Amino acid sequence: MKKAKDILNPVNLTRMVMALAILLTLIAIFLVVTRPAPVNAGRTRGGDECTSVVVVASGDTLSKLLLEQGLTHNDVDAIAKTLKKDAGISTLRADSDKIEFTRPTDSEPVSKIVVIPSPWKQVELTCDGTGAWNCKTVDIERDTRAVYRAGEILDGDSFYLAGQRAGVPAGILADVYDLLAFEMDFERDVRAGQKFWVVYEENFSGGQKIDNGRVLAVSFDALRGNVKMYRYRKADGTTGYYDADGNGAIKSLKRTPINNAKVTSSFSNKRKHPVLGYTRAHKGVDFRASTGTPIPAAGAGRVVARGYNRGHGNYIKLRHNGSYETLYAHLSKFVKNVKVGTNVRQGQTIGYVGSTGMSTGPHLHYEIIKDGKHVNPMTVKLPAISNLNKSEKKKFAEYREIMDNAIEELKKNQNLFIQL
Ligand SMILES: [Zn+2]
Repeated sequence: MKKAKDILNPVNLTRMVMALAILLTLIAIFLVVTRPAPVNAGRTRGGDECTSVVVVASGDTLSKLLLEQGLTHNDVDAIAKTLKKDAGISTLRADSDKIEFTRPTDSEPVSKIVVIPSPWKQVELTCDGTGAWNCKTVDIERDTRAVYRAGEILDGDSFYLAGQRAGVPAGILADVYDLLAFEMDFERDVRAGQKFWVVYEENFSGGQKIDNGRVLAVSFDALRGNVKMYRYRKADGTTGYYDADGNGAIKSLKRTPINNAKVTSSFSNKRKHPVLGYTRAHKGVDFRASTGTPIPAAGAGRVVARGYNRGHGNYIKLRHNGSYETLYAHLSKFVKNVKVGTNVRQGQTIGYVGSTGMSTGPHLHYEIIKDGKHVNPMTVKLPAISNLNKSEKKKFAEYREIMDNAIEELKKNQNLFIQL
């Protein structure tokens, strides 16, 4: 079975073409995507073999669970050592890890233990009869399908509500939000009647849906025009999101560091009044958010200032690659380990929203400074993190055409999917 990442590789474009051909010709065969059935739990029998499944609960430890199954203290020690050495597992996670215990017959001791730390990995321990336990890690094959969901913004709607109504899972919606936020302003670009669609992966195992994968393509009819993004794997193996023309869609900075926050004051560049001496300029954008809301770094960079002044209150300033700096003001508190000189990732929390300094209520005041000059975060053209060169753009265009054709088919019948 081919994995999505292989198929979407431009090297494997022909395979993608074939996948599309299969989609088109066997359309009648693909039926409604089956919804997951409840996971089997409890005891099952195959022949005389008897298997019981235990879902790790809070307070459970490996040794407690093993002793409950009648294993000896020697077994417990041997299993714990092997699991740590061969599979890197030393602790169990409550409510997510599962353990299967198998006995040759009801009355015999456990001879096989399967620890399931993720839907895509199983660690099998077998006893060889001399008391030694052997460990083998098995990757579970995933069957990945690309599905299409489309929706429309209604009166008084938010993109989030419209997405949920369209059947887009919350995690995928959050990813879509992060992607589109580079190109549009959810505060001002969203209106009733706008349409959108999302193509994303669903991972199946043994015919059951296990989880969702990545966003493969997204389209949104924003006020400023249609915004489209495609996930694409370059020849060097790196993946990124690109717009319809193959320009990098992920920008080095975010216009709105806090998703979904309402803009309460926009950027204005009015000069200082020469006579009265007061200024009406607002060198940044204000986002309403409650005190304590984490503030993510708008882009990767280094902390160049962290302190307090009368106007900004607690503030932090980052320097990014190229000629950009960003400043975040009125913080209620800083993050202990994020100090002057610290390197931060895009999205890493650098402080918390507050109302310190000259502020009338909790909000984030956000500035982007380009070459020492304040610019409007909502309109400044921001550099892309990854761009395609000429030959990659050509390959991307071919890939995009295949994807667009497949999406046209999915539009006609949303119960179809692309087998990746
Ligand atoms: Zn402000």
